[in-house]
Amino acid sequence: MTHIAVLGSTNMDLVTYVARAPQRGETVTGREFRTIPGGKGANQAVAAAHAGADVTLIGAVGVDSFGSQLRSALEHSGVDTDHLRTTEGPSGTAHIVVDDQGGNAIVVIPGANGTVDHLAPGDEGLITTADALLLQLEIPLAAVVAGAEAARRHGVRTILTPSPAQPLPAQLLASIDLLVPNEYEAAALTGTPDPREAATALLDHVPEVVVTLGAAGSLYAARGAAPLTVPAPRVDAVDSTGAGDTFVGTLAVALAEGRPMPEALAWASAAAALSVQRIGATSSMPYRSEIDAEAAPYTHHAQSTS
Ligand code: ATP
Repeated sequence: MTHIAVLGSTNMDLVTYVARAPQRGETVTGREFRTIPGGKGANQAVAAAHAGADVTLIGAVGVDSFGSQLRSALEHSGVDTDHLRTTEGPSGTAHIVVDDQGGNAIVVIPGANGTVDHLAPGDEGLITTADALLLQLEIPLAAVVAGAEAARRHGVRTILTPSPAQPLPAQLLASIDLLVPNEYEAAALTGTPDPREAATALLDHVPEVVVTLGAAGSLYAARGAAPLTVPAPRVDAVDSTGAGDTFVGTLAVALAEGRPMPEALAWASAAAALSVQRIGATSSMPYRSEIDAEAAPYTHHAQSTS
């Protein structure tokens, strides 16, 4: 079985469902409120576990009740939490407003994630045994750099989701194999709103880039190869929370299994399309058999046109 290591955040998502998100100073009546385990690190870990990999999450939760709920939710999803520390203070939280169009607005408060600023003893050993290391930017940059460099030293593929968008030091990019920004992050990183131009600019820093484009699919670019546009399956989206993390977690599993990039992208697109048709982040992530069924027509297409 493939083994994916994830170094990143775990949050309790505090999700409000409302017809239309309020403007500044406005009060609106929402429809429903839920607490759902999330955080980009945990989300990508669960997506990869559901997709069929052995997954270990490196990170931290707080001593509050959210911390124990987050840990047990991860374990219930099949994620190994041996490298998930429990630290003093609150767990991370994400306050999410989902509107009737399936769009979302998010405020993240790091909590325990802010203490993950280094690799703990044993973390590097774990990373060396993995087929891929998934990284995001919801923990301090020092740990992201340390994790990427440890993976690079041992020839482990590194995949970075540059979210929340922020300037990336050259030292980090030098250890990244595949960068997966959404279109806003790609624009923020490069200063160009055109995803194709942004992807080309990012190839100056990393060998492979996938820009995710929401319902419009994704765009793959690699040094020395023509860009590949991957359409998303047409579906009725009810909640896009976690779509990007589902896409990345699933993509990592397919690549770790040695599948060619066009097929891996089609598989990840099928998984993400399934996730936007369901409520929540981890609660919306499809299992391997569901992804296979959804992806069948697209993977055939990807193989026959690659
Ligand atoms: P989020 O922050 O909502 O988790 P994101 O901004 O990181 O998502 P997106 O580009 O919105 O990432 O979506 C990731 C992938 O999910 C897309 O590349 C696409 O394959 C799939 N996807 C997103 N929205 C839809 C949709 N409405 N229909 C089908 N697929 C979708």
